[in-house]
Amino acid sequence: MFFEKRHGLFVGRFPAWAGTAGLRHAFSTRRGGNSLPPFGALNLGLNTEDDPDSVRENWAKFCLAAGLDRDRMAFTRQVHGDGVAVVETPGIIQDTDALVTQSRDVVLAIQVADCVPVFLFDPRRRAVGLAHAGWRGSALGIAGKTTVAMAGRFGSRPADLSACIGPSIGPCCFEVGPETAERFAPRYLQAGRLDLWAVNRDSLIAAGMDPNAIHVSRLCTVCHRDWFFSHRGDGGKTGRMAAVIGLE
Ligand SMILES: [Zn+2]
Repeated sequence: MFFEKRHGLFVGRFPAWAGTAGLRHAFSTRRGGNSLPPFGALNLGLNTEDDPDSVRENWAKFCLAAGLDRDRMAFTRQVHGDGVAVVETPGIIQDTDALVTQSRDVVLAIQVADCVPVFLFDPRRRAVGLAHAGWRGSALGIAGKTTVAMAGRFGSRPADLSACIGPSIGPCCFEVGPETAERFAPRYLQAGRLDLWAVNRDSLIAAGMDPNAIHVSRLCTVCHRDWFFSHRGDGGKTGRMAAVIGLE
């Protein structure tokens, strides 16, 4: 991932999709917003204890910088499950951790701070998907289930899809206890640390995706807390970054 500075904010982009016509995507950082600690500064989380006016102003700034239309956004109220919602209109979708759409009238958004954002694009069927995969969602295979939803709803062939995995807690930092570890195959664990990037990549491959079409940013939110909010690194009370994808 690289970061463009626009209107005073940094907007994250994936090199794999930087020149892709008809696709827009973005990832925010924690820098440049109006929120006060512990939400400083660009908190885009809709379910934190931050001042709602600050969050609203932050979203306006981020939309301006990223070239997004705030009125077209579809947000999630995430529950660490494996539900995938088909979205055709903007708004807040309750109890879901993944969104898919073929509509140009809606831009998908999720909120993360350590959890893994999985972005999906089908250039053939012109469809996008976005999944919020914390360890629970990852254990449930939400990344693969999102591709399955795109196949079922839009006729997407997994082999046509391209995926990008954004900044999130890395295998360098994600120490887990036995109750979490036992939900994953031993190959994803090393010295008590869990590799959610590999779990999600394998979930996409198991759903039929080409390994060469899966791009992992390999940016750890705990290691780079000057750039990113980190639930674990900031002691639980912190802001959220936004992951965004849409068609145009
Ligand atoms: Zn790390």
